[in-house]
Formats: sequence, C-alpha cells, structure tokens
Amino acid sequence: MGGYHYNCAIIGAGASGLFTAAKILSQRPGISIALIDSNPRCGKKLMLTGSGRCNFTNSNLDLAKYNTDDPAKLGRSFQKFGYSDAIDFFENVLGVLTTNKGDLYYPATLRAGTVVDALRFYIEEHGCQMITEAKVKEIKKSSVGFDIHLDDGSIISSDKAVVATGGITYPKTGSEGDAKYLLTGFMSYKDFTEFKCSLVPLFSDDQSLKALAGIRIPATVTLDDGKGEILSSGELQITKEGGLSGICIFDLSGRAVRAIDSGIEPLVRINFCNAEPGECCLMAAVRAKMFPDRSLSAAFSGIIQRTVLDYVLKKTGYKCNMPAKDLFYNDLVRIADALTAFPVKITDYGKPGDAQVSQGGVNLASLDDNMMIPKTPGLYVVGEAVNVDGICGGYNLQWAWTSAALCAEGIIGAL
Ligand SMILES: Cc1cc2nc3c(=O)[nH]c(=O)nc-3n(C[C@H](O)[C@H](O)[C@H](O)COP(=O)(O)OP(=O)(O)OC[C@H]3O[C@@H](n4cnc5c(N)ncnc54)[C@H](O)[C@@H]3O)c2cc1C
Repeated sequence: MGGYHYNCAIIGAGASGLFTAAKILSQRPGISIALIDSNPRCGKKLMLTGSGRCNFTNSNLDLAKYNTDDPAKLGRSFQKFGYSDAIDFFENVLGVLTTNKGDLYYPATLRAGTVVDALRFYIEEHGCQMITEAKVKEIKKSSVGFDIHLDDGSIISSDKAVVATGGITYPKTGSEGDAKYLLTGFMSYKDFTEFKCSLVPLFSDDQSLKALAGIRIPATVTLDDGKGEILSSGELQITKEGGLSGICIFDLSGRAVRAIDSGIEPLVRINFCNAEPGECCLMAAVRAKMFPDRSLSAAFSGIIQRTVLDYVLKKTGYKCNMPAKDLFYNDLVRIADALTAFPVKITDYGKPGDAQVSQGGVNLASLDDNMMIPKTPGLYVVGEAVNVDGICGGYNLQWAWTSAALCAEGIIGAL
C-alpha cells in the first residue's frame, strides 16, 4: 500500500500500535490510518501474554511497580488513562468481557486471542489500513508530515507518525529495538536510554544449582545490589541451566541487570520457607523432637520439598542422613538461616529471547504529555519503545494502553 497519503502512520501493530489506532478511530472515525508491521499478522507478542491468557491490566497501579526516568510524568499519565479506563474501553468499545483474579485483569475468555481479535476487528471495521510483512527502514520528515520508507522500497506518506515498535525482547515476535535507529535523526543520545532486558532469568557461577533444575516452589526473595535491598515473592523456578526464574525473580531482575551491567554482582537471598528464621527454627526444632531417629532429610520433609531441603542441607555442610537427634540448637539456627536466606551471587542474566520486557527506550521526560517528540511535532513514541517498564502482573500492557491513549488524544487534537 505504498504511495498513499494517510492522516496517521503507526509503525508496529503490537499492543500499543493497535490500541493507538482503536482509540483514535473510536473518537474520530474519519481519520485515515496505516498500521504497518513486519509480521504477517498483528499482535504476535500480545498473543503470548499472560501464558496465552493476556493479563491486560492491574488495579493496583502503584508507581513503585515501574522503572522509568520520569515517575512524576508516569503518575500523571495513569491519572489521565488508568486501569479502569482500559477496562472500560475493552468492555464498552471493543465488547470484550473481562474478569479478574485479585488485582489482575484478563479477558473473560482467558484467551489473548480474544484481545487481539477485538482490536483487529474494530480497527479494520473503522477503515484502518493494515500493511503487513513490511519492515520500516527509515522515517523522514516531509513537507506535509512524514515519509515512511519500507523495506520493499515503497514510501508511505502521512501527516502524523507513531513509533510503536516495542523493545528488544522476544525478537522473534518482530520487536528488535528498531525505535533507536528509526528515531536517530529526531533525538539526541540524551533522549534515549539503551534497551536492556527485564523480567529475565538470573544466573550464578554456582553450577551446583543445576541439582534443583525443574523445581517450582513458592518463595520470597531479596536482592541486594549494594544500593539497598528489594523484596519480591511468588513462584521460584530453577531452569535446566541452573538459572533462577519465575515471578519472584523476574520482578527484581530489572535492577539486577542494571547492577550487573555496571560491574556489580548482586546477591539474591532466597527464603524457601516463606517464614521468619525464628519461626523456621521452631518448626525444625519441633520436628527434630517428633522424629529424633529420622534422618534430617526425612525429619524436615514436611516443611519443604525434599530436593530443596537436601540441597540446602548439603550446601550448609550437613549430611542429609544425619539423625535429627544429633542436632544442637546452633545447628537448628544455622539450618533455619540457610532455608530462609539462602545466598546466591548473581553473575549474569538471560538473553533478550528469554526476557519478557525491555527496560530503556526513549526517555519519558523527552516526550510531551501526549508522547510526542517536542522538537518534531507530529512524531510520537508509545509502548515499550518508551523508557517505562513494570513488573509482572499486567503493568506493561497497561503502559501500552496508557501511552497509546495519550498519543491518540494528541493526534486527534492536532488533526
Ligand atoms: C512471553 C511474554 C508474556 C507477557 N505477558 C504479559 C502480561 O501478561 N501482561 C503484561 O502487562 N505484559 C506482558 N508482557 C509484556 C507485553 O507483551 C509488552 O510490554 C507489550 O506487548 C509491548 O507492546 P508494544 O506495542 O510496545 O510492543 P510489541 O508488542 O513488541 O509490538 C511491536 C510491534 O512492532 C513491530 N515492529 C518492530 N519494528 C518494526 C519495523 N521496523 N517495521 C515494522 N514493524 C516493526 C513488531 O513486529 C511488533 O509487532 C509479556 C511479554 C512476553 C514476551
């Protein structure tokens, strides 16, 4: 569809690009939009979200759940378009029934495909032109707005342009960090924070962790990166390579990645028991008294999965077959300390293909309140291409909807 002139060209038909188009068309149906994506279909990453169920927002939009260069502007953005606005749009404009599990919101079908379909049906019905299998190579300023150069040599002309190309993670979904080079001519290096992984597994040099490969256990984890401690809880998974994964690790991985990249090896402490050391010590003491002739491994097996217990006992210098009656009080304290604050030195993190979201992108402070680059009126950036990332729980998609809604408002006001 090269050679046409549109009111608006949106580059990237992921969550934020689709929502920008839908929001514009819901308020101004006459605006002509070209939505361009390198994939054959739109919403490839959106289809994978929430393990295929699409956790599309969270009713606890606490700014502490986000990492950005401009928290104050992020707060103002959510005041303008927050989680209830997203739910309202999905329910009342797109016709998607929603459901929640606590603070986490999903389509009632529990299928990400429902969200992708709802967005796609809506924008197509309203005349949005989808241009697929087209990679944008360059954006150039023109006398009327912008010329969008595609990889087949064709050019799409538009009054306004939106960069919704995502970050660097899950590159097989088409998000390869293109925002950086597409916007090079329009911003200075100070306006951009390098993309890095977030929500990503963490690795230690300690190969012994492979003994726990495949384990899934509810845990509380603290990360100490020398600047202070942060705490997170949820499922802990140990990957086949001995990496630490799962929600509780993902939620503090962004900070671990920043530490590692600045030459600091952060320390993770795993509380396998989700209990205070004193409480854990008491639980162990009670069982040592109940089962004095059992091995440590058998005596404490009711407290924690045996594979994890045996591993922690060995790493703390205890033989798993030692009789429980041979333990002194100091031993119980040591074992309880290890079970509630097992230390793992983090030396590395996963690749972009393993990470669920990117940190970095165009600085929020370098955009106006409608996600426009002030020095280039008419050029907008939304979604993961902006330097805003959140923890697990619907926070990243909410940012995609919020930034898209603000951008749509700006475009509608300017056309
Ligand atoms: C496995 C997984 C599960 C997730 N689950 C959740 C969840 O449950 N809840 C949540 O809130 N977040 C979740 N996320 C994060 C969320 O999916 C992203 O933050 C969100 O999709 C970002 O939307 P976006 O539109 O900015 O970018 P993307 O969805 O990455 O879309 C960018 C689009 O731009 C296209 N593109 C890129 N460059 C070009 C170019 N040069 N030319 C043309 N097209 C281009 C790409 O093909 C892509 O379709 C998950 C992520 C992953 C990987």
